[in-house]
Amino acid sequence: MQNTTDTVIGYSATTEPLSEEEAAKQQQRIMELRRYNREYYHAHKKPSECEHCHKIFSSVSALRRHQVKNLKCKLLQATETIEKFERFNMNG
Ligand SMILES: [Zn+2]
Repeated sequence: MQNTTDTVIGYSATTEPLSEEEAAKQQQRIMELRRYNREYYHAHKKPSECEHCHKIFSSVSALRRHQVKNLKCKLLQATETIEKFERFNMNG
């Protein structure tokens, strides 16, 4: 059984093999972007407080990680959501 369905979506005419020069340029661009992101991160990081359980974190990314991973904090988030929902129901 052979037909033309082996074309992968998004991987068609535009994917020509890169020349070495082009590949190097792309690599350069990626490195610059990474450096920019790193510098931006260090310039902007500041102590952040969790709005749910009020713990203090040294950076926003640590706070975000905490809010996703910490069970106690997630419970608080869920409780807040339920309370909001109940208030909404009472008003409606
Ligand atoms: Zn928290």
